[in-house]
Amino acid sequence: MKPGRIPSVPDRFGVYVHVPFCERKCPYCDFYSVEGTDLKDRYLNALHREIARASRRPNAAAVDTIYIGGGTPSLLTPDEIERLLGEIGRCFTIAGDAERTIEVNPGTTTRESLRMLRQLGMNRLSIGVQSFDDRVLTFLGRIHTVAEARSCIETARAVGFENISIDLIFGIPGQSRRGWEDTLKEALALSPDHVSAYSLIVEEQTPLFALVKSGSVVPVTEEEEAAQFTLTMSFLEDSGYDHYEVSNYARPSCRSRHNSAYWHHHNYLGFGPSAHSFWVDARSGEAWRWANVRQVGGYCDLLWREGSPVAMAEELGTRELVNEMIFLGLRSDGLSLPALTNDLGYELSGEQRTYLHQLLARNLAVLSGGTVRLTREGFLFCDEICSHLMTS
Ligand code: SF4
Repeated sequence: MKPGRIPSVPDRFGVYVHVPFCERKCPYCDFYSVEGTDLKDRYLNALHREIARASRRPNAAAVDTIYIGGGTPSLLTPDEIERLLGEIGRCFTIAGDAERTIEVNPGTTTRESLRMLRQLGMNRLSIGVQSFDDRVLTFLGRIHTVAEARSCIETARAVGFENISIDLIFGIPGQSRRGWEDTLKEALALSPDHVSAYSLIVEEQTPLFALVKSGSVVPVTEEEEAAQFTLTMSFLEDSGYDHYEVSNYARPSCRSRHNSAYWHHHNYLGFGPSAHSFWVDARSGEAWRWANVRQVGGYCDLLWREGSPVAMAEELGTRELVNEMIFLGLRSDGLSLPALTNDLGYELSGEQRTYLHQLLARNLAVLSGGTVRLTREGFLFCDEICSHLMTS
């Protein structure tokens, strides 16, 4: 396989920190996390070691974005977050205008903890609301109530967060389209700057999967899921939100800089169990992706032995980079055909061109200035369209 080359990447890079603890595991979730915080001290020591090891990385310019995700990062105390930020600042230069996001679960925050987070310099909050219906929150196994979610958003504003994102889920068994619309209305009444709206995926290896398999839970039909997705797009776009990625909507100037960097092949380093990293060497243009071990115990052991927590690393070939550019582009701002040619030296095949023309003719995509963008209708078939266009 021919190694891929990315001719230029911005100097700045992103930092992701995975906090792998949750108070209770939600039955639909397949993110890596464990219940309880027994391993927290060991994990934090190991995490600081991993960050210190990475600071030896050559060509590392300033950190543009910090994203503390999970799991439930709000299970860390403000002191622990302060030490973590201190370690990142000791090992790297953090840009003065860096975006600093932390995910919080409304069931684990207080006015004081939110105030402390703001005081520590976190300037973007991502709140895992999921629904404004208490029955749906119970079905999802969430530890918080609607009242707590609302209070978390209002308090975050009151203590000075000017950039608040909320996560919502649609396509939930038992929830009607009307119920989902009510959740969207309640969400907008709180004026979030950014909304991430995901459809519920029944992932294998989750308790929800077992419930569906046994027939105790009946998933929503594809038609209903598509109808709720269409409702989401029109509702949020009509309310002034920019639909800039298949699941993400932002007010002007409030796109997630951190996540946008993932979708544009910018460099980022991931720390913590199961975290992924992507790095393009500035001189050679070689692109590497790697992932840490998933288990928090194994992660700590490896770092205590002065070893590396990396479980998988691969240099990306041209084919992978082309496929990623197609997939990431169509999910977000669009696929730039000139960039495919000029950056990666790739020309679409006759079959791919024919398929693109079909998408345009069926109004599933539009072409403007050499960039192919999916329409609302096209987003309904995003995965199918991407896999059709990707090369094998
Ligand atoms: S709180 Fe979030 S990360 Fe934790 S189990 Fe629930 S969905 Fe998963």
